[in-house]
Amino acid sequence: MHRIHDDIYTIQGLPIGRVYVIAGADGLTLIDASVEGAERAIERDLARAGYSLQAIRRILITHAHPDHVGALAALVRASGAQVYAHALEAPIIRGQQPVVYAATYKETALTRRISALIGIRGMPPSQVDREIAEGEVLPEVLPDLQVIAAPGHARGQVVFYSPARKLLFCGDAIARFGRLSLPLAQFTPDMAEAKRSIKKLATLEIETLCFGHGVPMKRRTSERLRAFAATL
Ligand SMILES: [Zn+2]
Ligand SMILES: [Zn+2]
Repeated sequence: MHRIHDDIYTIQGLPIGRVYVIAGADGLTLIDASVEGAERAIERDLARAGYSLQAIRRILITHAHPDHVGALAALVRASGAQVYAHALEAPIIRGQQPVVYAATYKETALTRRISALIGIRGMPPSQVDREIAEGEVLPEVLPDLQVIAAPGHARGQVVFYSPARKLLFCGDAIARFGRLSLPLAQFTPDMAEAKRSIKKLATLEIETLCFGHGVPMKRRTSERLRAFAATL
């Protein structure tokens, strides 16, 4: 695991999709669950730090895309962890509703091949134990960890913010392709809403920005995010 901030780490060796680990007194909290099959890489990387999968107490899901919940069912089976997700994402995670992408997105043999090549596989259904919403605080994870709604890329996307640590886990609300970017258009059903979410997140004081993909940003973060939001 690579340490990002105090007791917060990111799993290394995943094909795609970041998984963050918060080490607490009662065990581990994961943020997102990468792709189907990634449970093996997660198990290996946790083991290097002296943890087993059974140390996972809970898994917070930012949104129900296959690169964020693919390994969720397997991780829950192995750990008995509690799953937290927004009420609009929970039925997708449970396999009761399909994932919603942009209206222009069409799945074809080619898109399936590309998905397979970059490591995206299936989305085995998983339980959701707790439905979370904007304004909630999750002291069992970090004393001041807030749930903030950031819809657009997914209707029920939530992000997690610690004001004391100036730390934001932003899921796919903000992308980093070298520079700060919008989420990928074909996987974003409501880009206008996604832009409003970025402007809202840009009002927070942030030092460490942990993306759903890419390397966390740690320098001049709020300044850069505000400059980016101003272009939208
Ligand atoms: Zn993603
Ligand atoms: Zn996504």
